Amino acid sequence: MPKKYHIDTRPTPPRFTPIGKSGVMDWRTGCLRCKRCAKTTCVYGVYNLRTFNSRQLADSIDYYCKNCFRCVQSCPVGLITKTINPEYLEMGDTYWTPDIISSTWYQAETGKIPVSGAGYGGPFVGDGFDDMWTDMSEIVRPTRDGIHGREYINTSIDLGRKLPYLSFNAEGKLISEPPSLVEIPLPIIFGELPMGNLNETIYLAIAQAAYRLGTFLVVTPEEFLRPYAQNIIPLLSQEVLNRNLEWVHEAKIIALPHSETIKQSIERIKTARSEAPVLVKLPLTPKAKELVTQLTMEGVDIVHVYADTHGRELESTSPRFIKEMVMEIHLHLVEKHMRDQVTLVASGGIAMAEHVAKIIICGADGVVIDLPLLVALECRLCKDCLQGESCPVEIQDIEPDWGAQRIINLMSAWHGQLLEVLGAMGLREIRRLRGEMGRAMFYQDLEREIFGAIFGEKRGDN
Ligand code: SF4
Ligand code: SF4
Repeated sequence: MPKKYHIDTRPTPPRFTPIGKSGVMDWRTGCLRCKRCAKTTCVYGVYNLRTFNSRQLADSIDYYCKNCFRCVQSCPVGLITKTINPEYLEMGDTYWTPDIISSTWYQAETGKIPVSGAGYGGPFVGDGFDDMWTDMSEIVRPTRDGIHGREYINTSIDLGRKLPYLSFNAEGKLISEPPSLVEIPLPIIFGELPMGNLNETIYLAIAQAAYRLGTFLVVTPEEFLRPYAQNIIPLLSQEVLNRNLEWVHEAKIIALPHSETIKQSIERIKTARSEAPVLVKLPLTPKAKELVTQLTMEGVDIVHVYADTHGRELESTSPRFIKEMVMEIHLHLVEKHMRDQVTLVASGGIAMAEHVAKIIICGADGVVIDLPLLVALECRLCKDCLQGESCPVEIQDIEPDWGAQRIINLMSAWHGQLLEVLGAMGLREIRRLRGEMGRAMFYQDLEREIFGAIFGEKRGDN
């Protein structure tokens, strides 16, 4: 059994006061000057932690307050009021919601799984990943101590091709040559960032995190990344391939963007280094299913399919969500008896740990993430950088060590959540979760098969 995977976390406070969900307004007029002010009853000591950042005109109470309302209820003359912070509501967009951003900051700072003491207060169904529930039927079996302590739950995945069968000679000796596989301890790879005031330090932070976690960063290679070459999957355009093959000789896996000339590029790499798995980056368009099948037949080891940042299909007038598309590709490969011959990783709209588990249930082997890395570095997803404006959290000035630790903390929190999901399903191996659609319930199926028959179909349902 491989050694238990452990991630070293360290509290890594933000450099800027994060935007909190709700503020506390405490009026002075009418104050009775109680011997023990309601503010001193805060069990989280929020009023003691409170600082005012004059540069940002921000009060840190918004971020540290846990919204328990104790101080509000304890003031005898009702002078303490809580209000929703309008700046918080403006963060991100409809997909990358303020709650996702805020929870990512918390995980990047502490390395801990976010908990909501007041329980889940949101809706039970929504769009995208929110119309899918995972099976927690084994929740009583392994104890929490077991999941995070004594029991061994493996979150490793293999990157590369597997043989459809093994061949032996007359003497019973194995004659099939197994293709090289690269194992990573987490089903998560890092990808190129779609925005941000990006510079060397940001990518050095991500590459360092990939190195310390034992995973990879898929990126257009630059000379400054050379110290982390073993954890870089260089994304090589045809033009770079024609110029030099230095990265091809150095990297464990080589990535190519999908193009008309992909076959020639793969041949060029395989001639230079036959043992290195090749990853092809392919957009999730209406043609994706056929293209993945074709690439698998042509010997590609890993296909990275990507949707837009909201997980939507590209080049389509009625874009589908990534989970439906991955499910379709996976089932098509199963039907063609080719599923194990290729590793499928998916990106686009993977915003939380639960999305990793859900997309694996839909048939991916693992994920490639981008925006969560940026959010871990304090990004507010304000998109000011896309307009050429300055970044409110001066992301370009981070220290690589600080950034790497924030990403490591986030991955530790995600890893903990994956263990919880697997433990609750009674699984000890994340590889076994792939394509296990029976381990999930889908809202559309429940409506059609159960509730529709009793209460009538909802308008808009298929
Ligand atoms: S609402 Fe609760 S957590 Fe927030 S400041 Fe008041 S007592 Fe503290
Ligand atoms: S905080 Fe805004 S400006 Fe800074 S990197 Fe993030 S999206 Fe860009």
